[in-house]
Amino acid sequence: MTYPNTQLFINGQWQDAADGKSLAVFNPATGKEIGRVAHASTVDLDRALEAAQKGFETWRDMPPIERNKIMRKAAGLMRERAAAIAALLTQEQGKPLAEAKGETLAAADIIEWFADEGLRVYGRIVPSRFHLSTRQMVLKDPVGPVAAFTPWNFPINQVVRKMAAALSAGCSMLVKAPEETPASPAELIRAFADAGLPPGVLGLVYGTPAEISNYLIPHPVIRKVTFTGSTPVGKQLAALAGQHMKRVTMELGGHAPVIVCEDADIALAVKAAGAAKFRNAGQVCIAPTRFLVHESIKNDFAAAMVKYAQGIKVGEGLTEGTTMGPLANPRRVTAMAEFTQDAVKQGAALALGGERIGDTGNFWQPTILTDVPLQARVFNDEPFGPMVAMRGFNVLDDAIAEANRLSYGLAGYAFTRSLKNADLLSRRVEVGMLWVNMPALPSAEMPFGGIKDSGYGSEGGPEAMDAYLNARAVSIAHV
Ligand code: NAD
Repeated sequence: MTYPNTQLFINGQWQDAADGKSLAVFNPATGKEIGRVAHASTVDLDRALEAAQKGFETWRDMPPIERNKIMRKAAGLMRERAAAIAALLTQEQGKPLAEAKGETLAAADIIEWFADEGLRVYGRIVPSRFHLSTRQMVLKDPVGPVAAFTPWNFPINQVVRKMAAALSAGCSMLVKAPEETPASPAELIRAFADAGLPPGVLGLVYGTPAEISNYLIPHPVIRKVTFTGSTPVGKQLAALAGQHMKRVTMELGGHAPVIVCEDADIALAVKAAGAAKFRNAGQVCIAPTRFLVHESIKNDFAAAMVKYAQGIKVGEGLTEGTTMGPLANPRRVTAMAEFTQDAVKQGAALALGGERIGDTGNFWQPTILTDVPLQARVFNDEPFGPMVAMRGFNVLDDAIAEANRLSYGLAGYAFTRSLKNADLLSRRVEVGMLWVNMPALPSAEMPFGGIKDSGYGSEGGPEAMDAYLNARAVSIAHV
C-alpha cells in the first residue's frame, strides 16, 4: 500500500478539513515528506461533536451482543489487513516491520477481549435494609461521548486500548490521534467503519493538539477524557478536565527501575530487560530506564548488556533483519544527545554508543551508560530512547528506595531467584505494573496504568471498563 494522505473521519465520512488545511507527515528513516494529514478547525470539531452525541445515543441503545459482533468483525479486518497496515505504521513511525505487525495483531486481540467483556457488564440487586418490597438496583451505564488523545509511539495500540474499552461499555469516542503518525490509527478506525459501526460512534481528528484539547475537554457533549502522553501535558489536561468535572484517565510517563539482585539469572535479566529496553527504540512508557544492579554482578551484567546491544541491527524498519529503527522524530535525537552529554559530564562512563548514526533520518546508536550518578538527567527525566543507564547497589532496601525516589510510578522490573526478594519487591516498589524475571507483557486482561505522577485509571482488565461506566443507584418501592 503506498502511503496515503489521511483524512478526518466525521459522522461516518472520510473528509478533508473544512478549510482545506493539512500538515506534512515525514518518514523518520529518511526525513522525507511521505504524505499529508488533514488539520481540523472548530468547524470540523463541532460536526464531530454533534455526530459523537448522536452516535452515542445509537450505540448505547444497541444490545451488547450486536456491539460485540461489530467489534469482533473489526478485529478480524485488522488481522486480514495486518501486513498492509504494518507497512504504513513503519513508514510513519520507524519501528521494524515485525514490531508494527505485532502491534496491529495485538490490536485485534485487545478488541476481541473487550468486545467479550462488554457482554458481562452486570449491575447488582441489593437487598433493602428498610423494606423487602423495595427493589434496590445498581445499574452500569456508559458515561457518554469520550474525547481521547493519543501519542505517536504506538499509534494503533494507544488508540485501541481506549477505544475497545469505551465501545464495549457503550460509549462513543472522538479520537485526536497523533499528527506525526496518522495513517495507521486511521486504518484502525477504517476497520470499525467497514465492520458496520453506525455513524458518529467513532470520530477521528487531527490538528493542533492544544487547540483541540482546549476545545473538546470543556465541551458539554464530552463526558470523559482519556490521554496518553507526557506527565506535564497530562497534568494540564487533568486540571482542565477538573474545572469542568469531566471523568479522566491519564496514562503518563514513567521511569522504570530494573532491580537486578545478587542472585539473579544474569542471562535472563539481560535478555528480558534488553528486549523491553530496545523495543520501539526505547520510546515506550514502560521501557526499563534505571538499571540498579547489585555491585557483585554489576560488571558482568554491564558486559552482557553491551554484547546484547551490539547484536541489535539498526536500520530502516522496512528492511529485512532490522531489529531497531530510527527514533520517531528529530526531537528525540536531540534529547538523546543531551542525555548522553549530561551523564558523561556528571561522571558516568559511556560503555556503548552515544552518537547519532549518519545524517539522514533519526538514527541513534543503542547506548549504554554505567556508574551513572543519581543527579544525572537520565536518572531523573524520562529518556524515551534506546539508552540503558546503570548504577550499582549493595543492599536491596537501598535499591527499593532508589526505585521509589522519583515521582513516576508506571512500570518496574526485577530479577531474583529468591521468593523472599520477589515478595518484598512486589509489596514495596511503587509502580502500577511490576514484572519479575520476565519482560514486559502487558495483556488486555491485566490492568495497565500508573500511580503517582504516571497517572491514574487503567487501560486493561475489568478496571478499564469501569473507567467508561457510571454506576447508578435506582430504588423502586411498591405503592
Ligand atoms: P509532548 O509532551 O509535547 O507530547 C506528548 C504527546 O502529547 C503527543 O502525542 C502530543 O501530540 C500530545 N500533546 C501535547 N500537548 C497536548 C495538548 N495540549 N493537548 C493534547 N495533546 C497534547 O512531547 P513529545 O516530544 O511528542 O514527546 C516527548 C515526551 O512525551 C517523551 O519524552 C515522553 O515522556 C512522553 N510520551 C509519552 C508517551 C506514553 O506512552 N506515555 C508517548 C509519547 C510521548
